[in-house]
Amino acid sequence: MKSFEHMSPTSVQEAVKMLSVGNARVIAGGTDLLGIMKDGLLPTDRVVDLKAIPGLDKIREESGELRIGALARIGDLASSALVQQKAPALAAAAFAVASPQIRNAGTLGGNLAQKVRCWYYRDADRADCYKRNGSYCYAIFGQSELHALFDGAACFAVTPSDTAIALSALAARIVVAGPKGEREVGVDDFFIGPAVDYMREVALAADEIIVDVRIPSTWSAQPSVFLKAAPRKAIDFARGSVGAAVIGSPVIQKARISLGAVAPTPKRATASEAFLEGKRLDAATIAKAAELATEGAKPLANNAYKIRLTQGLVRQALTRLAS
Ligand SMILES: Cc1cc2nc3c(=O)[nH]c(=O)nc-3n(C[C@H](O)[C@H](O)[C@H](O)COP(=O)(O)OP(=O)(O)OC[C@H]3O[C@@H](n4cnc5c(N)ncnc54)[C@H](O)[C@@H]3O)c2cc1C
Ligand code: SF4
Repeated sequence: MKSFEHMSPTSVQEAVKMLSVGNARVIAGGTDLLGIMKDGLLPTDRVVDLKAIPGLDKIREESGELRIGALARIGDLASSALVQQKAPALAAAAFAVASPQIRNAGTLGGNLAQKVRCWYYRDADRADCYKRNGSYCYAIFGQSELHALFDGAACFAVTPSDTAIALSALAARIVVAGPKGEREVGVDDFFIGPAVDYMREVALAADEIIVDVRIPSTWSAQPSVFLKAAPRKAIDFARGSVGAAVIGSPVIQKARISLGAVAPTPKRATASEAFLEGKRLDAATIAKAAELATEGAKPLANNAYKIRLTQGLVRQALTRLAS
């Protein structure tokens, strides 16, 4: 690995200043960044380690919201009684991440900001992929089993984060700190697709840090679920996933459904959400909402299986919410 400088700020402001220099990157648990650096995927001269900043790992209820610091470990989210009670979809998504070792080191901020897992991007020999500043997408004519059904442009890599899908269903907001102070961004705007910028997955400037994730009381008090399909129970990234939350019983007033592993960002199933409003979750309604979830999908050569997989996950998720 190329040598780099390691900085250990003790405040967010100090960290932001350290990030303004050259190829500096935030490091939290290091479970993604260190692999990226070893493989030379992102030039890095300096890592700014957030772990010495006090208070960034707190999970608490404040102003009626569930608030989670960016340094909260994924394992702590999965086992937190507060998260299980207020945001069951997020606790389930955290539990579905990787393995106990990675959940014990990896943090919520890192899970949201991790780079894509496209097998071409991560292959040292494919330096000319668009996402590595090149001029080619291997997935378009290559092996596309893991790639996007929706919203692919130059790049078809899907968002790898399980927690992002649950947070999208829960209408979370991300608090970001930068040189001008803090700003809040809705989770669906935090993830950016390749049509906006295929080099970045999230709306973070180089000198910005995720400090907090907030789930509003409107959604945190409601039933929610997260389901994931992957070849193995541990270590595997999702081939499909769904986060779903509803307000109203037995008649649905509002629903939020977010799909994972089918788009470069969490993909809201807006046609299903609109269809569910004012309806009871009976078998016919659930079946129709599941079918609508993949409306507009445009499969590549090898990923059409994700359509039925995703519909099945939505059906299961809504069936659970109905019971
Ligand atoms: C074998 C394996 C299996 C995996 N399986 C899954 C899975 O099934 N589901 C899943 O969701 N994930 C999975 N992951 C990804 C894993 O969850 C992430 O590596 C982890 O969540 C990253 O957290 P971290 O704290 O270690 O981040 P780091 O590695 O420290 O950072 C990751 C990225 O986020 C940035 N970053 C970190 N914190 C912040 C912050 N506060 N503000 C701004 N930027 C920040 C870093 O600069 C870096 O670019 C897997 C990883 C591995 C290695
Ligand atoms: S899908 Fe994206 S990351 Fe993968 S080869 Fe194409 S441009 Fe590169």
